[in-house]
Amino acid sequence: MDIAKVEPITTARALRGPFDYRLPERMRDVGVGSLLMVPFGHRRMLGVVTALTDHSDLPHERLAEPIEALEAGATPELVRLGLWVAERYCSTASRGLALVLPPGSGAGVPRAARARTERRAQITPTGRAALAGEARLGERQRAALESLAGAEEVSGAELARVAGADSGVLARLAERGLVTQRESEVRRRPRIDTVGASGGRVELSAQQAACVTEIVAALDGAGSRERLLHGVTGSGKTEVYLAAIEAALERGRSAILLVPEIGLTPQTLSRVAARLGDQVAVIHSGLSEGERFDEWRRLRSGEARVCVGPRSAVFAPLSDLGLIVVDEEHDSSYKQEGDPRYDARAVARRRASEAGAVYLAGSATPRPESWAELERLELSERVDGRPMPPVEVLDMRETGPRAGPLHERTRAALASLPEGAKAIVMLNRRGFSPHLSCASCGEAVSCPSCDVSLVLHRGGGRSGPRIGCHHCGHSEPVPTDCPSCGSVSIIRHGAGTERIEELIAELIAPARVFRLDADSASGRDGHTRVLSAFGAARGGVLVGTQMVAKGHDFPDVALSVLIDADSTLRYPDFRAEERTFSLVAQLAGRSGRGDRGGRVLIQTLAPAAIPIAAAARHDAPGFLAGELERRREFGYPPFASLVAIELSGAGERALAVLAKQLAEAIAPGLSAGSELLGPAPRFRRRNRFRRRLLIKTAQPERDAAAIRAVLERPEAVKALRGATLAVDVDPQ
Ligand SMILES: [Zn+2]
Ligand SMILES: [Zn+2]
Repeated sequence: MDIAKVEPITTARALRGPFDYRLPERMRDVGVGSLLMVPFGHRRMLGVVTALTDHSDLPHERLAEPIEALEAGATPELVRLGLWVAERYCSTASRGLALVLPPGSGAGVPRAARARTERRAQITPTGRAALAGEARLGERQRAALESLAGAEEVSGAELARVAGADSGVLARLAERGLVTQRESEVRRRPRIDTVGASGGRVELSAQQAACVTEIVAALDGAGSRERLLHGVTGSGKTEVYLAAIEAALERGRSAILLVPEIGLTPQTLSRVAARLGDQVAVIHSGLSEGERFDEWRRLRSGEARVCVGPRSAVFAPLSDLGLIVVDEEHDSSYKQEGDPRYDARAVARRRASEAGAVYLAGSATPRPESWAELERLELSERVDGRPMPPVEVLDMRETGPRAGPLHERTRAALASLPEGAKAIVMLNRRGFSPHLSCASCGEAVSCPSCDVSLVLHRGGGRSGPRIGCHHCGHSEPVPTDCPSCGSVSIIRHGAGTERIEELIAELIAPARVFRLDADSASGRDGHTRVLSAFGAARGGVLVGTQMVAKGHDFPDVALSVLIDADSTLRYPDFRAEERTFSLVAQLAGRSGRGDRGGRVLIQTLAPAAIPIAAAARHDAPGFLAGELERRREFGYPPFASLVAIELSGAGERALAVLAKQLAEAIAPGLSAGSELLGPAPRFRRRNRFRRRLLIKTAQPERDAAAIRAVLERPEAVKALRGATLAVDVDPQ
């Protein structure tokens, strides 16, 4: 077995491995998953070993040898998973494998992240004698020895700082046998804020304990290994996850906890870290590359046995995996938007099943797919024994057009918040006014590069009010007159978070309003900053987009308000109902966690819409049963799978022709019973026209392979030049 099959890590779709390399004697410990630097034509490339063999189609002497074997590589299990992702999501082996490599293993660039080392020095007995006796020592030599005498080992950087001893001074001391030096690896550890998080165990409720018992039994091989933890908001799902993770660790197995975007769930992260300490590693995009690399190495070496992170943590290099938990499993951030467009929930299920591990998905508002496919565990009561808050649905059709965006009852409830009580107000639209138009000619003010209206932002800072596009970032000053007829009467329509913030500030003064949206909470710690300020305040109102409805817990919240609850229903998407239900139910669940009780107001133009009415009754089972019926009738997941093909191009005519030709080329290869819809136009974005084909299929893997085969034909490759194409399996 001295031939390695190596897949080069590259973003180029045309370069497909694996390629054979002959392993020299010094690389005999190279295995599946090892990272190699290999010669490729006149270049060097980073590659992953996908198999070892002793036969190649090329004669032995024509095979090149790798240049170098790098220290950190993936495991054979992860190589299989990366290749599965590539296949399942219509991507390339290289892109699938890039997901399982140590962070910083660059695609295209022959480069791999490395451990950071530092020089550390120790004093020898001779050195101590020299310090005590009459030996001739320079001033800095003496200072260095004195620092070393008081400690076991000191780093070079520290000695330079406290004793002014540079590497030259240390080298001379080492030559005289007064100190010894060694290179030691430095771990770059991310800081996890555990302030306020208790590391102590709480006593589990009877329901929580029953769920844990079932999960532990599954860990030990009894019953289904794929479970859905359906727990109402405030029912203590995190305690169940923690107990299950501890049970896995006790059995010598490791665990992964997937959470939605880490910035939005600081409370979960700090609780896990406070409870499990150094066994926990976190991997997320907010860390530096060095920190990510070192956390990855702690997992790979077994030093850390639990990985917490967003979707990419599903690829954590843990061995003996016992459990994968997906918290808030309904969250759309589990789907990757770039190639490969993988769904971390599907990848987690696959990985758990291959490893013989338990897959546990948890949510108060699970996806219909999970409801239908996974065996359920129920937490129907809140841990504090409080009832779910009453929900009032306010019909905005009854208020006149002059009433403004807040219902009279909403205004009254906000104005009469008792001192020290808090409220959360959600509106899924940022900016001040989402829409401007001309009163004379009716022309809407829209983006020059996209078919959408420009949003007015009052903003702060130097720029003053501007109108901007939420799709391409275009921004310009607010027009004073109509670009088509010159009229000066421009009307503003609708309200965004900035306008609601202003209205509420007037209502509740002197209490404060905190705004949480992509504009107010930018930067690495943006969300945490706003949420901590709201948490620490005595009273006040948090206004924001759907970020305010996610995974945090403020006991003083006595009122939750949702404005324009049906806005998500207006999207032409089969998940519109599911999203609306989830949003309303999650927001309702933020209220009434403390002594103040809770009240929930839902403003809508569609009070009878099923998702809104069901969420108002806190009736997830009722909603899901109906939604599954609807999906069965229309052939949507979980009763069929979807594969979308997105095309975009600069010329509308050419794109329309291309989309039609592509549909005609793909249709004959699909499985019997598969249905191809489209091409359907989608709105122009960033000056690119767009078309979409949608395939409903019972055999997604087979059809994805058929599509890939069509796309790889030389005539398709040629026709697609100048257009951009993405295949999205299981689109969100
Ligand atoms: Zn006009
Ligand atoms: Zn735009």
